Amino acid sequence: MKILGPCRDGEDVLLHICCAPDASYGVPAMQERFRVTGFFFNPNIHPGEEHARRLHATHRLQDFLPFPLEVGGGGEKEWDEAVRGLEGEPEKGRRCEACIRLRLRRTAETAKTLGIPAFCTVLTVSPKKDAAMVNRVGREEGERAGLLFIEADMKKCDGFRKSVEITKKLGIYRQNYCGCLPSLRYRKQIPR
Ligand code: SF4
Repeated sequence: MKILGPCRDGEDVLLHICCAPDASYGVPAMQERFRVTGFFFNPNIHPGEEHARRLHATHRLQDFLPFPLEVGGGGEKEWDEAVRGLEGEPEKGRRCEACIRLRLRRTAETAKTLGIPAFCTVLTVSPKKDAAMVNRVGREEGERAGLLFIEADMKKCDGFRKSVEITKKLGIYRQNYCGCLPSLRYRKQIPR
């Protein structure tokens, strides 16, 4: 993992978790330098059964790599509103920026409530995520909340390949689409 921005070793960090595969690399990598609390908040995931499956996989990961986890609920209506009209955007486009902003905004708000001074996300483990965009959005949301967003590119240093190896070894569920209905349709090549 490559940390790109300012940070203090040993800092308490609220780490946004989108799924167990990305967390399988991102959590231990962050734990090498910070005191990590995970935060699962993903109103983008469709359908509800898939959301439950990914949350369950994250709890299973906790059995192997212990870390405290907060779970954020709700947000589906806000998510629908945030991405309305952007359904046809490609991955890494404007829909993804709105989706990531909503999740990082809630992460920052939750960090503030918990008295945690910094936050980050494991989203950049995925090669399908634009780390520059994720870090810019995180920085903006950090400034808005008055908290430090720790900028990172977790796919550097082979983060993605390592996450595949870890989940395979532990038998942790790996999804095959990003999460929202448009990404599921794209995966299945279903016309809108
Ligand atoms: S493709 Fe992924 S990041 Fe983009 S809007 Fe859908 S769930 Fe969010």
